[in-house]
Amino acid sequence: MLEGKVAIVTGGTRGIGLETVKVFKENKASVILFGSKKETVDKALEDLKNDGIEVKGYYPNLNNYDDINNVLEEIKKEYGHIDILVNNAGISANKKIEDTTSSEFESIMNLNVNAMFNMCKCVVPYMKKNKGGVILNTSSMVSIYGQPSGVGYPASKFAVNGLTKSLARELAPFNIRVNAVAPGITNTDMVASLPKEMIEPLIKTIPLGRIGEPRDIANAFLFLASDLASYITGNILSVDGAARS
Ligand code: NAD
Repeated sequence: MLEGKVAIVTGGTRGIGLETVKVFKENKASVILFGSKKETVDKALEDLKNDGIEVKGYYPNLNNYDDINNVLEEIKKEYGHIDILVNNAGISANKKIEDTTSSEFESIMNLNVNAMFNMCKCVVPYMKKNKGGVILNTSSMVSIYGQPSGVGYPASKFAVNGLTKSLARELAPFNIRVNAVAPGITNTDMVASLPKEMIEPLIKTIPLGRIGEPRDIANAFLFLASDLASYITGNILSVDGAARS
């Protein structure tokens, strides 16, 4: 479904991002994963290699334009074009507002929103030159309903939806589609780090009766990245088993 396409996946070292890397490779894309540091990127590349999957990896600071632009130039030199960007890197929060410091709130915004903006800003000139492209953002079911603690996380994901819908309109004339996937509770380290008392009651309320798997989300990214979705832009696709919390 992605033959000949060049795709970047941020937060590609584990969880949803890593699974997206695998699904895109299975569908014949050239994939470049981004992670936060050398050790985790090296480890992900080595694990993938052991499974017979060859991808490139980088660890640019997503809040530094020079860092991002240098890596994008390298990718352009090696592959000739950049077709798909999956903005997936993200962190969550679960503290009550009285216990949340402003620097904790800022670091969520810095990664979940500012880094997404930075990546879009830097990649769009490549896509415009290429006369098209696909930008996919990772939102969350909390972008629709909020959550009862950790306000920075849903606030950041509401911003992701705004960025997605607005950029879709701005970039449509350039044949660049912009969509988001809003996962429900998904079986990754992010969820493993949250208190059981918070997660288990939520899983019981999911109509499909199970937690999401990273592949459920990666498959949604695959569809949206592919030409099957060529008339879909500005959409927030819920992949949550109809969870409504
Ligand atoms: P994860 O914690 O397993 O992976 C997060 C990824 O982000 C890692 O690859 C990590 O390297 C990267 N990352 C973290 N800090 C970074 C930084 N400062 N700079 C660059 N990269 C950084 O999480 P996941 O569950 O796979 O989450 C991926 C995305 O899915 C996130 O945007 C998250 O908000 C979203 N999401 C997850 C769930 C869930 O239940 N797991 C639900 C809804 C949305």
